[in-house]
Amino acid sequence: MDRPAAPRRIQRLSQQLANQIAAGEVVERPASVLKELLENSADAGARLIEVEVEQGGTRLLRVRDDGCGIHQDDLALALSPHATSKIRDQGDLVRVASLGFRGEALASIASVSRLTITSRMAGAGEAWQLEGLVQGPVPAALPAGTSVEVRDLFYNTPARRKFLRSERTEFSHIEEVFRRFVLSRSDTAFTLRHNGRQIMRLRAGAAGDLGRVGAVLGASFVEHAQAVEFEAAGMRLWGWAAQPEFSRPQNDMQYFYVNGRVIRDKLVNHAVRQAFEERLPEGRFPAYVLYFELDPALVDVNVHPTKHEVRFREARMVHDFIHRGLSRALAGDAAEEDLAMGHVVRESSRPYVAPLMAAASRGAGRAALAACDALYRASRPQSPAKVAPVAPAGPLGTALALLQGRYVLAEDGSGLVVVNLDAAITRIATGRLLAARQAGAVRPQPLLIPETVELDMGLAEWAEAHPDALLALGLDVDRLGPDTLVVRQIPALLRGAEVKPLVGKVVRMLADGAATELVLQVMAGFVLVDRRMSVSEMNALLREVEALPSQESAPCWGRLTAHQLDQLAGGKGQPEAGEC
Ligand code: ADP
Ligand code: MG
Repeated sequence: MDRPAAPRRIQRLSQQLANQIAAGEVVERPASVLKELLENSADAGARLIEVEVEQGGTRLLRVRDDGCGIHQDDLALALSPHATSKIRDQGDLVRVASLGFRGEALASIASVSRLTITSRMAGAGEAWQLEGLVQGPVPAALPAGTSVEVRDLFYNTPARRKFLRSERTEFSHIEEVFRRFVLSRSDTAFTLRHNGRQIMRLRAGAAGDLGRVGAVLGASFVEHAQAVEFEAAGMRLWGWAAQPEFSRPQNDMQYFYVNGRVIRDKLVNHAVRQAFEERLPEGRFPAYVLYFELDPALVDVNVHPTKHEVRFREARMVHDFIHRGLSRALAGDAAEEDLAMGHVVRESSRPYVAPLMAAASRGAGRAALAACDALYRASRPQSPAKVAPVAPAGPLGTALALLQGRYVLAEDGSGLVVVNLDAAITRIATGRLLAARQAGAVRPQPLLIPETVELDMGLAEWAEAHPDALLALGLDVDRLGPDTLVVRQIPALLRGAEVKPLVGKVVRMLADGAATELVLQVMAGFVLVDRRMSVSEMNALLREVEALPSQESAPCWGRLTAHQLDQLAGGKGQPEAGEC
């Protein structure tokens, strides 16, 4: 082999050449240009996006939107590398919410094509246009929004041009990018034209619109679509998966989005494949459109310039979540599982059934409706403290209403009874936990996803040394690290409770030698309270409160007698009361 030539002096690349090199990573073919332009339009808040293609995108690719537009003075900047309006610092980068953030797409595209950008900010008197970086912006005609026109892709990079395929092939790639994108934005209207012919026109619909899915994947997919809706530990998986009869000979109908971004990911693929595995014959591929949502800080999107890849911070947890959620949905027992998770609704979280209900009311397909129906029936509001559906009136009377989600109002023979809902449920739950503990152990329930809890090393050590004490209280805990526990099961009664503070408190109390009854009382405070109670559920609650052991020291209810009500509302001694 020849010896390498003596090194030449180092020189800085021209900006144009540097951009072209960068373009090599982002711009592989017309379809990749389209992806970048669509992302920019979406980031600009567009509600209408029009795509015009000629000759498979090699001659022309134009994307026009009605988004926020670009300021005249920023047009040149938009085309220069590493210029972005989307992030400013490292902090923004770790929780990117926009599709773009690298600030190099337009510069890259402009370096390998003839690019013209025209934009008019909402409220601006006129539009401005920039042709490449040749001359400063000139006035142009355009309604509010932005139009980016890319002509003659790779005209100046013959090596790249050589790799372009036939017009038909390039256009089929464009169509695929388009399909993937429109499925992530059902609230945006789109059109796609090729060589002057309209290929697709999509009206804006509601988020989670099955109509959009049908328009893109066909009626047959929708007919076989089974709704998926799963939420736990701050993560949510929703969308549709086709029943096994609709499996495909290849993997051409698999759409997976992470926080609205189209991605390809081995971990995700594996989890999804596993969920479908038992249901599909060898060599068949599932069809699905699934949206996975989680805290942006838990997923790194800055892995590759095309942003097709992501890295999950809690890879194992994400894998298990997707696999389990999907398996259950496919097994058709989503409703049951949802009931388990949505049974007692956390005050702060949105009701679990809401998304599906909304989907149904928007006229979603049969399968979605059926799933929704089952879910609705299964998860009718139930009080965690309910014992009997109907109970005759007792000393606390009959329920009237729930005030502010906090007070059960009831009417007894002599006036108005007010029960503090949270206090009552904590009492009832304490009684149940205590009874269970005395009968052996509190019944546990596996967590859908094990949770890790960090605490003092001493406490972690204690927990490791006393698994039985914890198991007796329905807590299955392992030591994961010096100061970390992993929690696999919690008491069934505490389903949906905040695991970290619960376990932290319980371990601390037990290690401090607190009385069991006291620990159970604290645990009962973690029961999630359903604040959508029906009258009969409130009546059942009243009966349970009546059955509680004596509450002389701190009752969880009070009574206003007819006389006191008179004083309050009858004008006697209450001058500010309204006239009756
Ligand atoms: P990035 O999207 O990573 O920020 P780009 O090179 O794709 O980088 O775009 C550069 C900048 O140009 C964007 O940050 C944005 O401010 C502006 N821009 C690009 N396209 C549009 C558009 N369609 N509407 C409004 N602004 C746009
Ligand atoms: Mg961009």
